[in-house]
Amino acid sequence: MTVACTRDNGMVFPDDLRDWQRELRAQFPIITGHPELTYLDSAATAQKPQAVLDAVHTYLTTANANAGRGTYPWANRTTDLVERTRDRVREFLGDPAPERSGVHFTSGTTDGLRTVARDWLTSYLADGDEIVVPDADHRANIEPWLETQRLLARQGVRVHVRRMPYQPGSGDYDHLALSEPAGRRTRFVAATHVHHVYGGNMNVHRIRQAVGPDAVICLDAAQSVGHLPVSVADLDVDFVVFSGHKALALSGSGAVWARQTRGPAFAPGGWSGTPNTAGIASLAAALDWLDAAGTHRIERWTVALAARLTDGLRHLDAYDILGCPLSLAAGSPVQQRQGIVTFRHRDITSGDLGFILFSHGFMVRSDNHCQGSAGETTGSVRVSLHAYNTPEEIDRLLAVLADLA
Ligand code: PLP
Repeated sequence: MTVACTRDNGMVFPDDLRDWQRELRAQFPIITGHPELTYLDSAATAQKPQAVLDAVHTYLTTANANAGRGTYPWANRTTDLVERTRDRVREFLGDPAPERSGVHFTSGTTDGLRTVARDWLTSYLADGDEIVVPDADHRANIEPWLETQRLLARQGVRVHVRRMPYQPGSGDYDHLALSEPAGRRTRFVAATHVHHVYGGNMNVHRIRQAVGPDAVICLDAAQSVGHLPVSVADLDVDFVVFSGHKALALSGSGAVWARQTRGPAFAPGGWSGTPNTAGIASLAAALDWLDAAGTHRIERWTVALAARLTDGLRHLDAYDILGCPLSLAAGSPVQQRQGIVTFRHRDITSGDLGFILFSHGFMVRSDNHCQGSAGETTGSVRVSLHAYNTPEEIDRLLAVLADLA
């Protein structure tokens, strides 16, 4: 069954958040320092608030050392920082059983997903098992699972890879089709929380309903952590993998949260190398900043900006919006668009459109966005939003797009 891709509620701009947003925006030096530019590429990497920059400076000038090794005060403080940040990640994700879960720091989502594949999935799967791979999601969430299949095949363990079914038109998973071969040995499902091209929340709770209580679900949360409340208690998934740099922390930071209740415990490499301690300091500060700002407010704000953009674009014949053309309202039983809108001009290539938009000060992503092989075959322009973006920026962008139409 395909559910209709329609808006089910009116979207009202959250004017009550305007003062809150003004205060937040003022905390991003790179944004306030460049009033002639508009940053619309937060899905690639997010800008950093002053509190994060300060935390990194303070760490590097007061306690910089290696972690898990020395016994002098700076080393102890660094080890303590790493352990406290593990707890902070659990708390940020609403972990209801932190004594059982594990948190492993990575350089980002790509590294995190590979770590789950290499250090956990290879020992979990047995001959004849099936895994579900979302081949129209980000390539970072496809390749590691296919590598696992190849690796196990070389050891004589045959793993069946099933492609995740998608609903045509919306980019959402087809959760009902996913449940069809019930009884097959679906042991593992790789899924994405918010799609990096179509911008939709992928309704992960329906994956659990479709595959039952025993399958392990690994969630690529690169586009949700830092943008909306992410609660592992509600999601009922086994791994949450995210990039610190998309959640306002430094590049080269990220984490894997592992529930540790289905299958063997996740035991990645351990202290075999030097962790990115400055990145971990930045992640702790970013999570504090996000909690203080309120991820539910960030979500309301960015969803409303995305709706403003889709509403405007839909009146311009020259543009096609990828995925569901509408921004579904909060509480939609169908699919909610988050702060990502991707579109094409019918006559101008995405590369040219990106250049033209930059000549007006807009920084957007324009290519195929690292989407997997079952995704879009031609490029597009992606606008992705964060708390520092404003409705005035969207209106200025729409004015330029209207001129080009
Ligand atoms: N998954 C999704 C959905 C993404 O959007 C991205 C980055 O754009 C990644 C994975 C890869 O993240 P990173 O480059 O931080 O490893």
